[in-house]
Amino acid sequence: MPQKTELDISSSSETNDSNINDVDGEITTKRTDYLVWWDYFMSIAYITSMRSKDPNTQVGACIVNESNRIVSLGYNGMPNGCSDDELPWNRTANSSLDTKYLYVCHAEMNAILNKTSYDLSGCTIFVLLFPCNECAKMIIQAGIKRIIYLSDKYSDENKFIASRRLLSMANIELIQYTPKQSKILIDFDTIAK
Ligand SMILES: [Zn+2]
Repeated sequence: MPQKTELDISSSSETNDSNINDVDGEITTKRTDYLVWWDYFMSIAYITSMRSKDPNTQVGACIVNESNRIVSLGYNGMPNGCSDDELPWNRTANSSLDTKYLYVCHAEMNAILNKTSYDLSGCTIFVLLFPCNECAKMIIQAGIKRIIYLSDKYSDENKFIASRRLLSMANIELIQYTPKQSKILIDFDTIAK
């Protein structure tokens, strides 16, 4: 079956005559183009990343327990109470004090710290980018057992080499995931007013 590239929630395209009620043409079998779990969680990580104010990199994370229940979400941003208008968003500057790196909290850190009193042991974290070494430490210490990520584009950098070293020593399962649906359309106008 060809992979669909876009989901339009207003229509169910995979139907045939046997699925259609003779009386009024209503579709009577379940939808087949629903989001599979991993696409669903990665989509939520993506939507969460849209909250980020970082002009260059928007990352979202979604932590899920063994019952496929979402237990926390996070995106990259400045710490609570620290003005994201005053702190720098630069990647380069004469002093590291004038770059974002010394201040910003990564999505994984925020997802782990923002949990609402749930033990993260055995959980899975869905994240858009492979975690850096600092987030890897927190993931390990939180008891998270699996990381499902989209991109590993910084894998050559020491932070990510160190991260992979720690995660593999701690037996964290690492899965690079390609969603079944590469594009998902959210169109609020399709919801009847
Ligand atoms: Zn990180």
